[in-house]
Amino acid sequence: MRRSPAFFVRCAEIVPSPCCIASLTVIGSRGRKIVHATGEKSELVIRRLRCTACRKIHHELPDCIVPYKRYESECVENVITSEPSEVDVAADNSTLYRWRAWFCSMATYLLGCLESIAIRFHLDVVEESSTPSQAAHHRFGRYVGDADGWLARVVRPVANSNFWVTYPFCILVQGPLR
Ligand SMILES: [Zn+2]
Repeated sequence: MRRSPAFFVRCAEIVPSPCCIASLTVIGSRGRKIVHATGEKSELVIRRLRCTACRKIHHELPDCIVPYKRYESECVENVITSEPSEVDVAADNSTLYRWRAWFCSMATYLLGCLESIAIRFHLDVVEESSTPSQAAHHRFGRYVGDADGWLARVVRPVANSNFWVTYPFCILVQGPLR
C-alpha cells in the first residue's frame, strides 16, 4: 500500500499549558495517522510540548483532529450534521453510528466545558435562542458559530483547557462540570 507523505502540523497560535497556564517548550514530535473522508490515510507529525512549570508532556492538537478519533474532524462533523443518507465518508455503518452516539453522549458535557471556558476568560456568548433547536449540534452555535469547522472549534478549546476526557465518558457526563 502506498503511503502518503507525512506533513508537519504547526499551530499558529501560542497556547499556554493546560495544566499550569505556563509556557510550553517543544521537545520533539511524534507521528499520528489520520483517515480522510475518502478512506485515504496520511500521517501528521505532531509536536511534543513540555510545560515549563511542572514538566508535564502535552501534544499539539491540530484542528483536523478529534482526540481518540482516527478520522479527521471534518468527517466526524459531516456525520453528526448530515442525514444518514447524505453522509459522504468512507466508513462502515457501525463507525458512523458510534460517532453519532459519541456526540449525543458528549454534547451536554462539551457545552458545559464551553460555558466554563467562556466564564473563565470573560468571553461574550450569543444569547440562547428562545426557540430551542432539536438538533444537538445547533446548541454549539452560540459559542463557536455554525459555519463549517464548528466541531474543530469546539474540540480545540476544550482539549487545550484540559477538559477532554478519555473513554468512558458516561461517568463524567453524569456530573456537570463546575
Ligand atoms: Zn504544568
